[in-house]
Amino acid sequence: SAVGSAVPRLVRTTCPYCAVQCNFDLHLENNLPVKITPTKECPVAHGTVCKKGLAALSDLRHPDRLITPLLRKNGELVPVSWAEAMAYVRGALTPLLAANPDAVGVYGSGSLTNEKTYLLGKFARLALRTANIDYNGRYCMASASTALNRTVGYDRGLGFPLSDLGTSDLIVLVGANIAETLPPIMQYLKAAKDRGALVYAIDPRATTTAKVAGKHLGIRPGSDGVLALGLLYLMKQWGKIRPTATAHGLTGVLWQADDYPPARVAHECGIPEGEFMALAHAYANATKPLILTGRGAEQHAHGTDTVHALLNLAFLTGHFGKPGGGYGTLTGQGNGQGGREHGQKTDQLPGARSLRDPRHRAEIAALWGCTPADLPQPGKSAQELLNACGTDIEALIVLGSNPVVSAAGAGYVTGRLRALKHLIVIDFLPSETATLATLVLPGSMWCEEEGTTTNLEGRVQCRRKAVTPPGAAREDWRILCDLAHAVGRSGGFEYATFRDLQDEFFRATRGGKADYSGLSAERLDRASAQWPVPHAAGPDTPYAYAPTYPTADGLATLHVPMLPAFAASPRSLTLTTGRLGNQYQSGTQTRRNAGLRADNTAQMHPETARATGLKAGDSVTLRTAHGSTTLPVSITPGIRPDTVFLPFHWPDTANLLTDPHTLDPHSGMPAFKATPVTLHPAHAA
Ligand code: SF4
Repeated sequence: SAVGSAVPRLVRTTCPYCAVQCNFDLHLENNLPVKITPTKECPVAHGTVCKKGLAALSDLRHPDRLITPLLRKNGELVPVSWAEAMAYVRGALTPLLAANPDAVGVYGSGSLTNEKTYLLGKFARLALRTANIDYNGRYCMASASTALNRTVGYDRGLGFPLSDLGTSDLIVLVGANIAETLPPIMQYLKAAKDRGALVYAIDPRATTTAKVAGKHLGIRPGSDGVLALGLLYLMKQWGKIRPTATAHGLTGVLWQADDYPPARVAHECGIPEGEFMALAHAYANATKPLILTGRGAEQHAHGTDTVHALLNLAFLTGHFGKPGGGYGTLTGQGNGQGGREHGQKTDQLPGARSLRDPRHRAEIAALWGCTPADLPQPGKSAQELLNACGTDIEALIVLGSNPVVSAAGAGYVTGRLRALKHLIVIDFLPSETATLATLVLPGSMWCEEEGTTTNLEGRVQCRRKAVTPPGAAREDWRILCDLAHAVGRSGGFEYATFRDLQDEFFRATRGGKADYSGLSAERLDRASAQWPVPHAAGPDTPYAYAPTYPTADGLATLHVPMLPAFAASPRSLTLTTGRLGNQYQSGTQTRRNAGLRADNTAQMHPETARATGLKAGDSVTLRTAHGSTTLPVSITPGIRPDTVFLPFHWPDTANLLTDPHTLDPHSGMPAFKATPVTLHPAHAA
């Protein structure tokens, strides 16, 4: 029954939190959501959900929920009407846009639905005409996405259905703590193990995942690419090279591997040579080995090159593109896959088109009723955009993201945001970024809006509206249209209904690499579908990576990875940051959820604590070249003695210590996972 009905009803929708996108049923009584129950019909999780999914209702009517626009007056954010809010937008942005549209930046999120992703990109380029739009996915899987695009011309995180994991005979998880970040995937890992597969976790920490995997290589943070080159060296020695297909760059990649014999690899990765050799033998003997990367391998200033090294290994040993084998990236954010396809990336147009490609520009210009010349060129990537606030960027519009917590060099970024003339934040809870804003616009939460999301296996699914946003909060897509109208650019932003927007979005992907044009609300109501889906009457595409690729000549191009040398120094300590099972991203939702407790501590090895005179519960100050923070100590033998771990979900902690200026030259990714750090006892607890 319809939204607004008092009759008890069920709405089947997808969890908002991570890229698995578990389906569940939302139970409503008297039009209020009262319960979430998993469904066995979920094509991904088959009736399991994690604690975050089950607790998702508590955010929905949290007392902090934003229910009215807030405008900064005399230093305070005070409630105002939508009319006053839009008058502010008009007054703030119109002169800037007239003088230099690129002075207005737009910052999106990998948690937005596909339709909002599309509309945000259209808003930036058609209404604002700014080059400077990017999004927080730059801090997620951007390195893996970039490496896949450079190699095979497009990027679907997993080129096969998740269930294929159960058929692999070797799964190598590289910097992916699935048990805490994507728990339902553990069922596929367990299925593979039950069939006799070996599962390796490559991680500086003996995570929950590593314990279930059974095989753990506790390598130095950032050295994953060296490990891959060492494996390629041995595969070459052992006659295991049989590329998946002809490709450009094979010779150079194979030649480079000669420099990585086992002794060098063991030294640089900081692991016993025997453990490395055991992994190499397992890889050589497997018929269907699968390498899966997570943020541990990807979030480095050499993240793209690390993924190139792993991808090259899978390609050259003949496993890339095979069902259940080869290489995949485990996208993390709620719509991390769809969010990177439809135009909120600074160099991208809908359907994973390139803003640099004249044909792609012409196709989208025709749809939007402008000329190709009207579309801006690519602008700044996420961290560059934040770093330019207060100088090149005078106003920033943020939708559903909290860079004050999630960006590298959070202290520096906070200063940049404070230096803006105008910071307009659209969100549903007062994130740390929203509290700095000059204008806050109350948006919609997951079950207050319709749309589609695309999970980590490229599966497009329905998000269904169950309730209306509270108070004066509005659906985000309507707010974006309001903003376009406020700056006098209403053409193209006059959708009568959400369905009009959605239909345009599907059409906009036609002919793109991520082609959804065969989809419709009706088709998705019947079943999810894996892209590309170019024909309404045709099938979807469970297996994306065919032997020919959407490149100029249909061939892949392998790239020689440029990796730093890792020197063992017993005295130096490396800070690595990451995620906890009970929290999601910058914690705006999950830190407010009483059902999702987690401790923000500095995790270190007993030897490290002893050497610094620390014990569990003591306060320790961590210092890097970029900032310092003080936290309680927790001690675990399951971490390398040269590594300290901080979760990044809280403000004023982990990302105060990371570097906002050194970025991956290909993906724009900062080095979240490896920062030199020193420890200083603060005071006894
Ligand atoms: Fe599923 Fe992820 Fe939601 Fe947990 S957070 S219920 S794994 S979609």
